[in-house]
Amino acid sequence: MSFTSLGLSDALLKAVSKQGYTQPSPIQQKAIPLILERKDILASAQTGTGKTAGFTLPMLQILSQQPFLRNRPVRALVLTPTRELAAQVYENVKEYGAFLDLKSAVIFGGVNQNSQVASLRSGVDILIATPGRLLDLHNQNLLSLSGIQMLVLDEADRMLDMGFLRDIKKIMSLMPPRRQNLLFSATFSREIKALANEILNHPVLVEATPENTTVEKINQKVYHLDKSHKTQVLIKLISDGAWEQVLVFTRTKHGANNLTKKLINHQVSALAIHGNKSQGARTNALQGFKDGTVRVLVATDIAARGLDIPLLPHVVNFELPNIPEDYVHRIGRTGRAGASGEAISLVGADERAYLKDIERLIGMQIPTATVADFVPDPNVQADEERPPRPTRYQGFKSGSAHPSNRNSSSNNRGPKRSAPKRPDSRRR
Ligand code: AMP
Repeated sequence: MSFTSLGLSDALLKAVSKQGYTQPSPIQQKAIPLILERKDILASAQTGTGKTAGFTLPMLQILSQQPFLRNRPVRALVLTPTRELAAQVYENVKEYGAFLDLKSAVIFGGVNQNSQVASLRSGVDILIATPGRLLDLHNQNLLSLSGIQMLVLDEADRMLDMGFLRDIKKIMSLMPPRRQNLLFSATFSREIKALANEILNHPVLVEATPENTTVEKINQKVYHLDKSHKTQVLIKLISDGAWEQVLVFTRTKHGANNLTKKLINHQVSALAIHGNKSQGARTNALQGFKDGTVRVLVATDIAARGLDIPLLPHVVNFELPNIPEDYVHRIGRTGRAGASGEAISLVGADERAYLKDIERLIGMQIPTATVADFVPDPNVQADEERPPRPTRYQGFKSGSAHPSNRNSSSNNRGPKRSAPKRPDSRRR
């Protein structure tokens, strides 16, 4: 199938070909015609599937075909969970809309609002925003949502995980009820289905997993190790494999900082990206990683969520995530666009229960490997030391603890009991 057969205008086809895309991805093939027909959609798609173009291209087409309004009220709103994702969607909107007379703006927290307010004042057709800053500016009467006719909730599952449900509902109440709604989510938990029921109007279900990033197709390996050997093994893997670009996940911000320091001490260029870093530092780290000046980007789940890092060859789980779905999000960053990818997990004795949960979720056993000289001490028992309880959702807005954090006391360091399974959130 070609982009031409999707019914896109010449200006959009030109922009797409400028990006070097030769054919639409599965999610684009399915979603674009439906959105052009003005249907509401509920789409199951993770980062890496081409979902952004999947909603942006038809949105641009629809808006560009409408009569020009002099005051340019915001007509389309894209809500995202993180600033990074907002910035990326904004970049994509500008690229795909390069040959159209439409204006877009991005607003997110953590930075001074002045330049965002200035761009809103000059009139914006498409606004990309994180919920908090959007409400903040709305409360200051600096923007109006009364002209919205199209709403996109991007990575809706993560927005709920981060406690944005109340904000989302508030934002809904500020928009005209008659509008087109597009909800994108990597998982379909009960909470997402409830949100979809509330927001979407006779939605069409669109499902697409990235063709070459399904977990089965990624070269996954587990190294069982003593925790104290992880840094050395990581450095060895990087240097023996001559890896030039590797994304490493840690569970905590502190862990990310620590590991980054150790890598730098071993002359491996590295930068950390997490929620405590300023927006500027995060943008610079990502840029350095993309242009090759930074070899290792050490990230926490929240910070890395939605980052568009094309053709990433190596992902390392320095620590396994305690939420099995995050494993799939993490490794989904490798092997994009036909490139082969490798996802390696360094697993200490205290993380074996997490590994079991992950293997249950993805429905396969991940092959194990060893590094000579770093064979784990068989005397270290799996349950000898439990990792601390999750910290990732702390610090965000209250009201939506992650499902796997529920039913457990906050200080539970005892043997892990499997979190209640959410079979409906498994990826298909
Ligand atoms: P997304 O899932 O929207 O984050 O997109 C992931 C990556 O795929 C981005 O780097 C896009 O530029 C790229 N991309 C989107 N659509 C296509 C396409 N049809 N062909 C090739 N690459 C694409």
